[in-house]
Amino acid sequence: MLSNIRIVLVQTFHPGNIGQAARAMKTMGLSDLVLVNPRSFPDAEATRLAAGATDVIDNARVVEHIAQAVGDCVQVVGASARLRSLPLPHFDDPEPMASELIEHAQDAPVALVFGRERFGLTNDEIRHCTHQVSIPANPEYGVLNLAQAVQILAYEVRRAWRHHQASPATSQTPPSLPTRDQMAHFEAHLHEALVTSGFLTQPHARTEDHLRALFARAQPSRKELSILRGVLSTLEKAGSNPRSSS
Ligand code: SAH
Repeated sequence: MLSNIRIVLVQTFHPGNIGQAARAMKTMGLSDLVLVNPRSFPDAEATRLAAGATDVIDNARVVEHIAQAVGDCVQVVGASARLRSLPLPHFDDPEPMASELIEHAQDAPVALVFGRERFGLTNDEIRHCTHQVSIPANPEYGVLNLAQAVQILAYEVRRAWRHHQASPATSQTPPSLPTRDQMAHFEAHLHEALVTSGFLTQPHARTEDHLRALFARAQPSRKELSILRGVLSTLEKAGSNPRSSS
């Protein structure tokens, strides 16, 4: 189950932070590290600061875009010190976030995503997440060092995993959620239908962000998502040939 929990670091500037994040992960039993466009990697400083966790560094995968890092994941939680303007479901306490993540990690990969040292995650990157989480730190100075944020959330995940191990019978396996790739196909299909039908006229309106938040809250199962896609296809056909549906 812990092997299904991925840590994603987006465009990390200091290689030392990658090393320290790897160490933080290994102390909590996590091993799947994906780096999105790091400034410098592989890097001697990253390896040095990983200490006994050089295996995590050696097995880290490097990708160019966040979509490649989380496409196969069923839940993706972006860690952020500040609330952004996007209306995504938000955990202001890491504990319930970690228990949910552990539930979903039973049968598919899930991810925790961390932003850049300078300016965190962009709104476009947060759109690839299903949820956001903040560590409730000092409101006057609540931004943690990247690797320390990884350490705290990795610890919460380990704690939730230990609870789950201790009482597995009480927790039911949730229905299989779609991967982010499957969700992205659905969103693209929905976008097309909304534009073709004339519902969406302003391409930059927030409507789609709200719909995305709605689906993130509802967490449709794979089956429900395929029903929704079927509905879209049928409505599209009816729309292009209105008489046949009368
Ligand atoms: N200056 C950036 C924060 C960079 S800290 C900003 O204001 O957004 C680097 C990363 O550590 C953040 O992107 C986030 O993923 C994580 N992080 C730092 N403090 C955090 C907190 N209080 N809660 C959740 N994540 C945090």
